[in-house]
Amino acid sequence: MAKRFIRISLGVKFRLLFGLALLGVIAAALVVPWYFIEVLSEQSLEGPARELTRLRLNEWKTLHAKAPTGQAAQDAGSQVFRLYRLGKEAEGLTGPSFIALDPTNPILGLDKSARKAWKAFDKSPDLEITWRKSKSDLGKPVYRCFRAVRNTADCAMCHSPTDPTKSVKTRFWPGQLVAMIDVTLSEDAAAGTLMLWTRLAFIIGGVLAGVMAMVIFAVISHRLILRPVRQLRELADKVAEGDQSVRSTLRTGDELERLGESFNEMLSAIQDQHNKLRAANRALDLKLNELGEANVALYEANQLKTEFLANVSHELRTPLNSIIGFADLLGESDQEKPARFGRNIATAARNLLALINDMLDLAKIEAGRSVVRFDKISASDTCRTLLALMHPIAEKKNIELIGEIADDLPLIVTDGGKLQQILYNLLSNAIKFTPPGGRVTLQAGLTTPQNGEEPAELRIAVADTGPGISEADQAHIFDKFYQADGTLTREAGGAGLGLAICRELANLLQARLSLTSDPGHGATFALLLPLEPESQDS
Ligand code: ADP
Repeated sequence: MAKRFIRISLGVKFRLLFGLALLGVIAAALVVPWYFIEVLSEQSLEGPARELTRLRLNEWKTLHAKAPTGQAAQDAGSQVFRLYRLGKEAEGLTGPSFIALDPTNPILGLDKSARKAWKAFDKSPDLEITWRKSKSDLGKPVYRCFRAVRNTADCAMCHSPTDPTKSVKTRFWPGQLVAMIDVTLSEDAAAGTLMLWTRLAFIIGGVLAGVMAMVIFAVISHRLILRPVRQLRELADKVAEGDQSVRSTLRTGDELERLGESFNEMLSAIQDQHNKLRAANRALDLKLNELGEANVALYEANQLKTEFLANVSHELRTPLNSIIGFADLLGESDQEKPARFGRNIATAARNLLALINDMLDLAKIEAGRSVVRFDKISASDTCRTLLALMHPIAEKKNIELIGEIADDLPLIVTDGGKLQQILYNLLSNAIKFTPPGGRVTLQAGLTTPQNGEEPAELRIAVADTGPGISEADQAHIFDKFYQADGTLTREAGGAGLGLAICRELANLLQARLSLTSDPGHGATFALLLPLEPESQDS
């Protein structure tokens, strides 16, 4: 299944990425001023908070000094607290409360903010004031300011860590954190509204800047990039539809104009190539027509030649047979000279008849008039018949004729007559060119199966111990009228048509005829026949 991709247009990609980047930039630009506004807001409360807690501490110290013992001191503290509340609550400030810490477990009873403050004081002995952001009961954001109350030299006058007159709970060592003063403050209404407006202004400013930047970017990117790119794409679409006359008219004075020019150059080059190709095609069509006509003429000429050959051969064979007959009669004459002449005439006439027969055969095959009749035959029978036929000729020339025919040869489907004609030609050539005392072997067997396959071919080879055929001659030996230039050949006679006929016949039988020869040591002609031809239409 073809993969499908989600296509996002360049414009959408630009806007999406630029929008994200802009968001990041605006956020980064606003975060610092936003932070300082927060700090400012805290600082506006810090002064009063410091003052309030300091006053509360002093008031407590004064009263504590006047009523130095346990409950009295606590009462004194509460009294100041009450006074304080009466005076300050009207201004929206929660009075500072005094948190005495239990020395054995200082965080006992402390709320979350107070616990954090205690931890900060405990960690840094010099820390005087610390802030915690919190929420009022009504859910409004408030600030809680804590002041550390530590055991000073004044306190040590009464609270020695070893003073036996004190309870363990009120024996303090110097610097010990004994209490915290806690004051809760909120921004006053006017300051709060101002802060709100300031924050709103920040947000609105950021949003406006973002929107403007997006609009400006969209206009610029559309004008400078997207519109020219779209024009180029439309141009490419037109070319794809086959219109090669279109050209880019972009005048942006930048890389896109250069791209348009390159596009135009490419189109011109394609058009040139196209025109050249069209011209070449036209020339090719003309040549094809000429070739077709020439072919027809050739075919007609070939037909004429074949008919002529067939007619001439037929006309020649009748008188030649008469000549051979009379020459044979003359050869049997009692007088020595006329008898020799008669025999010579008969031999020459027979050679001529053989040549005419060969030419007629070849002409028939080439004209497609040779009929192939496929039939089931025994290849070993064919080979044995031929051996018996050739035996007297070989014996006459003192040549040993051997048959090496495998026992298990199956029946094959082929044209028995044509197979016989091929083998007859090969055997008579072998006997003709092998000098007396030599050997000619007819081998027949199945090819060795490869990779466990069934044997598909029958190999019939004619090997001799004659002069062989040189490498240069091997390339042309199956050509018509080709004869290897050797003394033996010249002596033996022939017209150079036998092997050409063999090759043509082998093709008709869907077989392959090949030659291997070691010059000076004989030649082997091998015929590879299918056991059953693929198509048996003649
Ligand atoms: P022809 O024998 O009538 O000349 P062929 O086509 O049968 O024609 O043979 C062509 C040539 O091939 C021969 O003239 C001969 O030179 C060479 N030739 C064929 N068979 C053999 C062979 N067994 N040994 C050597 N030369 C051969």
